[in-house]
Amino acid sequence: MTAITDTLCLQCGLCCNGVLFADVRRERGDDSPLFAQHGPRVPQPCPAFNHGDCTCALYADRPARCRKFECKQLLAVRAGAKTAEAALKKIRQARKLAAQVESLLTELDFNDTRLPLSKRFQRCQRAAERGGLFENQLDCLAELQLTVHKLNGLLAADFYA
Ligand code: SF4
Ligand code: SF4
Repeated sequence: MTAITDTLCLQCGLCCNGVLFADVRRERGDDSPLFAQHGPRVPQPCPAFNHGDCTCALYADRPARCRKFECKQLLAVRAGAKTAEAALKKIRQARKLAAQVESLLTELDFNDTRLPLSKRFQRCQRAAERGGLFENQLDCLAELQLTVHKLNGLLAADFYA
């Protein structure tokens, strides 16, 4: 039987790709090679994450934080409170909103994909507050703010455990 993590996580990656979290922090006694390679607080998108197939290059030796985290979708399917198909629908919804945010940020030239999505959005907001955006970018900014609001609402309600 396929593990539920294979069914959901390999089509998701939201807890590794900088959408749900801004970093991966080392816990006491955690000797995952991720920290030896990148220090005790590793920014997301995680360098061990493969965006193509949502796999982790360090899966067998991933940090304790990663082993422990299970989002609400995963927990609900495990508990039998939700079908895998319903969880995948929610995952697709969140990924679609995150992709829209990503695309709007790129359109506004905040395209440093090494940063988590929340940080890119903060930088864009700060630039706008300082008057650093052009008049013709303001519609795009408004759409970005609305999409981030929708994404954050969905993540808060359906992903953070
Ligand atoms: S957010 Fe949930 S479903 Fe997605 S990869 Fe993380 S644990 Fe798996
Ligand atoms: S170490 Fe692996 S499981 Fe942990 S955040 Fe990075 S890619 Fe995800």
